Amino acid sequence: MDFRSGERVAVGMSGGKDSSATAFLLAKFLGDRRDVELIGITIDEGIASYRPEGIERARRLCMKLGIEHQVLAYEETVGQGMDEVVALDPQTIPCSYCGPFRRHALNRAARDVHADYVATGLNLDDTAQSILMNIARGDVEKLARLGPHEVRQPGLVPRIQPLRMIPEKEVYLYAMLRGIEFHDATCPYAERAQRGRFRDIVHRLEEESPGTRHAIVRGYDELRPLLHEKYPPAALNACARCGEPTVHAVCKACELRERVESQQQGSSGSEPATYVESIRTSRSASPSGTRLTSSRAPSRSVSARTGLVPFVAYSLSASVSPTASMSIFHHSRSCDRRLRRAKTAENVFQMPSTKVAATSITTIARLVGSVCNFRISRGSQPVP
Ligand code: SF4
Ligand SMILES: [Zn+2]
Repeated sequence: MDFRSGERVAVGMSGGKDSSATAFLLAKFLGDRRDVELIGITIDEGIASYRPEGIERARRLCMKLGIEHQVLAYEETVGQGMDEVVALDPQTIPCSYCGPFRRHALNRAARDVHADYVATGLNLDDTAQSILMNIARGDVEKLARLGPHEVRQPGLVPRIQPLRMIPEKEVYLYAMLRGIEFHDATCPYAERAQRGRFRDIVHRLEEESPGTRHAIVRGYDELRPLLHEKYPPAALNACARCGEPTVHAVCKACELRERVESQQQGSSGSEPATYVESIRTSRSASPSGTRLTSSRAPSRSVSARTGLVPFVAYSLSASVSPTASMSIFHHSRSCDRRLRRAKTAENVFQMPSTKVAATSITTIARLVGSVCNFRISRGSQPVP
């Protein structure tokens, strides 16, 4: 992509590996372009056990890269953070609120800093998942509207996705090898996200037929012109509530905000608190049977480098192929789904490509535990 002189590029930075690598790469490639300005933007979703560390990582990276960093909280856009939203509406999947709220906030923040583009850290795996999710839902219009945006519409800052064709594992490795510190933790509400299912599906497809993720995205890119013919960019109105661009009279974020407000008015507050508490403590729950549970706090952050040494030691000591080791490492650390991966570790180890006997699952899980700080437990008793 060729930026013109005087343009400003905002990077949506969660503090995670993808957006940190995006900011790092853009800063590197724009290093000689003093006429193009880079600005980091972090959206604070208001998730107390998770987001503050990400904000801090993003802030520190921006400082290192010598770029400005801005934070915009949901409280300032939709009036409430996700912890409150989940407490008020415990039945709805939190991401159904969070996705529209974040798009709304990121666009507003990017516009407020007069950005010409907003770069996101979406990687190849994310893109393939989004395509399949929309196909599975039959939502062809949304499929047509997936970024990157090629048309500039009034009020909407076009999104660019520099890592769109880069596999998640490679982004992870790049961040580690470059010594980029990032927030390596999982959102406490991610367990309920539908995306997790598609993540597993895409991973299985890729394991069985390497190149599937690229094929899904390439196939989609060939279809895009046809999809755009059927669903050209819709005319946008200013939202009657907040003024943000929308195809409807009221934008999705405002519609959801009003829904939460109506819950607030009718809420006694006791049941939601119980739900939130259950989410916060769910990681230590240990149903019967051999399970892996995280021994670290959900919000704990680690340097990208810290996992590398035990991983290499593990690769050398375990009699599995490097590919298998990497696969296990990838699954076990798996970026932002550590707990989910740990729970499905048995499936991972049974994949033919890992060539690991099912009988050694517990032993290997213990080794993975040493890499990832998971401890193995049977029922409520830790396995020594
Ligand atoms: S997992 Fe869902 S709730 Fe958590 S930050 Fe992502 S979109 Fe928001
Ligand atoms: Zn609105």
